[in-house]
Amino acid sequence: MESNSDSNRKTHNSNAEGSVECKRATGGTNSTAIQRKRHQDDDLDEDIQPLDHHNATDKKLFHKINDITKGTEKMKISLIDEIGIDLPKFGYIPQNTTYQDAYVPFTLARIADENCCFRCNGDCLSSRVPCACSRETGGEFAYTSQGLLKDEFLEACISMSHQPKDHHFFYCQYCPLERGKNVHNHEPCKGHLVRKFIKECWRKCGCNIKCGNRVVQRGITCKLQVFAMEGKGWGLRTLENLPKGYFVCEYVGEILTNSELYERNKKIRINERHTYPVLLDSDWGSEQVLKDEEALCLDATNYGNVARFINHRCFDSNLIEIPVEVETPDHHYYHIAFFTKRNVNAYEELTWDYQIDFEDDGHPIKAFKCQCGSSYCRDVRRKVSETKQKEVGVKRHKSGTSRVS
Ligand SMILES: [Zn+2]
Ligand SMILES: [Zn+2]
Ligand SMILES: [Zn+2]
Ligand SMILES: [Zn+2]
Repeated sequence: MESNSDSNRKTHNSNAEGSVECKRATGGTNSTAIQRKRHQDDDLDEDIQPLDHHNATDKKLFHKINDITKGTEKMKISLIDEIGIDLPKFGYIPQNTTYQDAYVPFTLARIADENCCFRCNGDCLSSRVPCACSRETGGEFAYTSQGLLKDEFLEACISMSHQPKDHHFFYCQYCPLERGKNVHNHEPCKGHLVRKFIKECWRKCGCNIKCGNRVVQRGITCKLQVFAMEGKGWGLRTLENLPKGYFVCEYVGEILTNSELYERNKKIRINERHTYPVLLDSDWGSEQVLKDEEALCLDATNYGNVARFINHRCFDSNLIEIPVEVETPDHHYYHIAFFTKRNVNAYEELTWDYQIDFEDDGHPIKAFKCQCGSSYCRDVRRKVSETKQKEVGVKRHKSGTSRVS
């Protein structure tokens, strides 16, 4: 259990709801910024139990919250603090919620007959000929009858995430992302990876809720725990062994338009942002020009689910995010679901690769100083190559020659 990124270290008082704060990582602060929290009885309700406050010389308080989801998920998710950092503060939501301008219409009428399988019944996976709901995944369902991702599909997604440059990118004519940064004089689109989608059956389909093509919509089914790490802040771990291709949880947050995200970022000071929003840009290429209210992202800063505690890890993270279409037939809005890339052992920290470009200085959110510990860490590699370049420069200067061994 190694790993992970720089993380949430800003302190907040817990409140009576046991509401919690934190991240999909980042902040750019360092471990010395961890502030020790003093014991405040008034802050604690029955869900937040002080586990140890007998040490008079060090006023560290250890916390335990039985269920950060406040009963909104099928599984309880505990939070445990064995080092004494402040409780995170946010509102737990089990499903995405629109913030303001985001246009996300959920209506059965939008799902055409060819976008669903109203003639199916029971379990679509067991029908001899795969139904219409497998079309998105090339006429084969993405899931096995055990509810895991099929190996071939998973490996294709992993390859896309490991070597994005080998895959297809779409470049917008008028990029909503760049337009959000500067309406009048925006830079050209930096490109959006065209991803593989999973399409799940939904309410208009004839099958039942136990249909094997409904995994993400059934929610979290494994035992997870939020925990505090010395020098790293909060993280998420599994309390049980998970097989490869297992659905862990969705990335849940407020659905924002890109301009709303940009406005929000302007108000948040760099060190205050502990979550790294996710763009829903996997299919921007299917439209000529995306309207502002259709260029969406998810932000778990104020409201989110347990996924906001998952730390970043460059390249060899144990989770991968995959876009999942459930209630909308187009790809303006979709779900981001986390699956295991390999077998994961109980008590292993769960991590994912946010695909942060550490060299993109123009990105609205400043990349944090990566402490993921991966030997493939892109931030460390970038710094090593910068240092090498500087050394080369110095040698050139000293020797007056451009040849360096
Ligand atoms: Zn079906
Ligand atoms: Zn079905
Ligand atoms: Zn673009
Ligand atoms: Zn279906």
